Amino acid sequence: MIIVLMGPPGAGKGTQAAHLSKHFNIPHLSTGDVFRNAMANESTLGEKVKFYINKGELAPDQVVIDIVLQKLDQKVFSKGLVLDGFPRTLSQAEMFDGELVRKKLAIDLVLNLVVSEQELYKRIEKRANENVTRRSDDNDKILKNRIEIYNRQARAVIDFYRKKDLVFDVDGAQTANLVLTTILNKLNLRIIC
Ligand code: ADP
Repeated sequence: MIIVLMGPPGAGKGTQAAHLSKHFNIPHLSTGDVFRNAMANESTLGEKVKFYINKGELAPDQVVIDIVLQKLDQKVFSKGLVLDGFPRTLSQAEMFDGELVRKKLAIDLVLNLVVSEQELYKRIEKRANENVTRRSDDNDKILKNRIEIYNRQARAVIDFYRKKDLVFDVDGAQTANLVLTTILNKLNLRIIC
C-alpha cells in the first residue's frame, strides 16, 4: 500500500503518517525527517540541504529525488510506505509516477489535509514552545515562507493526482483522532471496492 500525505506545515501530516504506518504495518518516510537527521549528523546530505531548510525553501528536486529513489530500493519499503512531505513539486510527482510505473506499483490514496492558515500559525507556535529541541525552521518569518511555498507548489501536485482520482480531502482542523478515523474509513472503502 502506498499512501501520500499532503498538507501545509502544521497540518498534522507527521501525526497521521505515524498512525497509518502503525495501522498498516508499513514504514513512514518523511523527507523532512531524512533531511533533519542528515543535518544533525552533519553528513554531506545535511550540508547540501541546510541552507534551504533553514530559510524555509525547498531542497533542489534532484537531491530529493535521489534520496527517495535510493530509499525505495530498500527492502523495508517493499510492502509499501506512507510518504510525508514528498512529492512536493510537480516534477517530483511526475518523476515518482514514472518510477512507480517502472516498478509496477501504484499510489492507493493521496490524503490532502486541509487546515486554515490561522490555525496553522497557532499550531506551530504551540509546537515551537512545547519542544525542548526547537526545529530550526519553526519561526514566524520562515513559517510564512514555508506556507507560501507550500501553497504555490502543492496545488500543481494535488491537481496532478486529482486528475488520476487519487485525492481525498480531509478536514485537518478536526481532532487528530477524528482525522484518523475519517482516513481509515476511506481507505477501508477503497480496499473493499
Ligand atoms: P513541513 O512541516 O514544513 O511540511 P517537513 O518536515 O516536511 O516540513 O520539511 C521540512 C523542510 O525540508 C522543508 O521546508 C524543505 O526545506 C525540506 N523538504 C522536505 N521535503 C521536501 C521535498 N519533497 N522537496 C523539497 N524540499 C523538501
